[in-house]
Amino acid sequence: MPKRRPNHRLAKIHRSYTVEEVARLFGIHKNTVRAWVKAGLPTCDGKRPTLILGCDLAAYLQARRTKNKQPCQPEEIYCVRCRAPKKPAGDMAEYQPVTATLGNLMGICPDCDGMIFRRASLVKLARIQEKLDITFAEAQQQVSDRNQPTVNSDFNQG
Ligand SMILES: [Zn+2]
Repeated sequence: MPKRRPNHRLAKIHRSYTVEEVARLFGIHKNTVRAWVKAGLPTCDGKRPTLILGCDLAAYLQARRTKNKQPCQPEEIYCVRCRAPKKPAGDMAEYQPVTATLGNLMGICPDCDGMIFRRASLVKLARIQEKLDITFAEAQQQVSDRNQPTVNSDFNQG
């Protein structure tokens, strides 16, 4: 993802653009524009080539800019219920290792008391620990029982 954000003011609201024109307008790749369309940028239905209204384009980009202003800080976990990044209640979280280097960071949302969790790598954990009190859960036991041969059925048949 490019760092600089397309300036929505470049889109003239009274004209419509093809995907190529939008790409040229912002100096971005056509695939980026197509990704916007997939992500919800409205187009004029049934027109070929695809036409995007300038006002739709401006509104879409403006919405994206505001949305992007809420990135998760290292110590924050996104709450799907509140639709916002949250710092876990009590500044506490639990780390459950999944692999040697990766695990789940879990906490409680301070606003809705729901479970919030996200992937976290061990490497990044050090930074998060500056802000949060992290407890380490024991590694999940490998469930091996199910993989054992079904000795019982053989026994019964004999
Ligand atoms: Zn919440």
